Amino acid sequence: MLFEDLSLSKSIQRAVFEEGYTNPTPIQEKSIPIILAGKDLVGCAQTGTGKTAAFAIPIIHHLHRMVGSSKKTKQIRCLVVTPTRELAVQIGESFDTYGKYTNLRQLTVFGGVSQVPQVDQLKKGVDILIATPGRLLDLHKQGFVDFDHLHFLVLDESDLMLDMGFINDVRKIVKLVPTNRQTLLFSATMPMAIRELADTFLNNPEYVSVTPVSSTAEIIKQQIYFVDKSDKRALLYHLIRNENLKNVLVFVRTKHGADNVVKALKKQGINAEAIHGDKSQTARQRVLDSFKNKEISVLVATDIAARGIDIESLPYVINFDLPNIPETYVHRIGRTGRAGNGGISISFCGKDEEPYWKDIQKLIKVDVKVTKDHPFPWKETEANPDAKPDLRNKKKSDGTKSRKSEASKKNKKRWY
Ligand code: AMP
Repeated sequence: MLFEDLSLSKSIQRAVFEEGYTNPTPIQEKSIPIILAGKDLVGCAQTGTGKTAAFAIPIIHHLHRMVGSSKKTKQIRCLVVTPTRELAVQIGESFDTYGKYTNLRQLTVFGGVSQVPQVDQLKKGVDILIATPGRLLDLHKQGFVDFDHLHFLVLDESDLMLDMGFINDVRKIVKLVPTNRQTLLFSATMPMAIRELADTFLNNPEYVSVTPVSSTAEIIKQQIYFVDKSDKRALLYHLIRNENLKNVLVFVRTKHGADNVVKALKKQGINAEAIHGDKSQTARQRVLDSFKNKEISVLVATDIAARGIDIESLPYVINFDLPNIPETYVHRIGRTGRAGNGGISISFCGKDEEPYWKDIQKLIKVDVKVTKDHPFPWKETEANPDAKPDLRNKKKSDGTKSRKSEASKKNKKRWY
């Protein structure tokens, strides 16, 4: 299928063509006709599949017809709710890109920055508002946001909104908007809770889903290194230096871990920065821009902070810590090898993470090459496979249950 087969207005086709897109991605091919037909939609698709354009393009098409050339004061006709500031910024950029030959005006609002410029823009009038939940409710409470003319509601990354504890805010927002609207809900995974939300908020929706999360792109070359936790930083440094890796996205489990890795790399003269929830919005954006401009060669991120990162042609992803949820591994390595470009994912597996690696392998069904030839293999005594402790469901020394059992519980709720 080609974009021109989708009966989109000429101004959108021109913008899409200028972006170099010829064919819609699978989520676009499935979603755009449904949205153009005015139906509610639940889309199961992760970042990187082209899902932003899948909703932005048909919404721009509708709005352009509705109000595009009208000189009347602008009213909010479309609201996109998304969990993180980075995602909000990217969605805003997408609306700007695909709508550049229309008169539509978009505004992105999020917390952690002054509300004054956002309020000024709201007073001037916007057609499309992209918002994180907390700031949106704040602005609404102060009377700066009027939803009377709203036609489209998009709930983006709904599973992440659930994980981040925004669900009550989302419920409040849905109550504030008109009931005769078109609602689109997107989520990378579809646990029961999301399907229940869809049943409550949407009207007889169509369901579309693309590439199950268990399929890892063939063009991503995956490698695994078995390395003791205490040697991980040395191995990271060794790989970056010896292989001369640049433009590397490193995933860690915690904010504290991210800061520690950055500190260690900086000590070795490597230009690294962290991006996580404790950093101010301005600091995160600055770091992200520097990484995109290649002023920083290593970006260390937690999963939540990375969720909104969209960088074309990222060559390397390193899993410094393995995630305890196997799908997260697939999301992480999907950051590389995008849009037909090859990519390399390198994972470090400490002894305590072996059960996670087994879960990941079960999900991806790919025989990942084990890189044995490196200076920091598991130490002999502990690396002896016969001596490996079975961590499954065992209590850890701190009294908490192994994350393996938590992962197993979560897996039961998975829906694919
Ligand atoms: P998203 O899943 O919305 O984060 O989009 C991922 C990336 O795919 C973005 O960088 C888009 O610019 C790009 N993209 C979206 N649609 C297409 C398309 N039809 N052809 C090529 N690239 C696309």
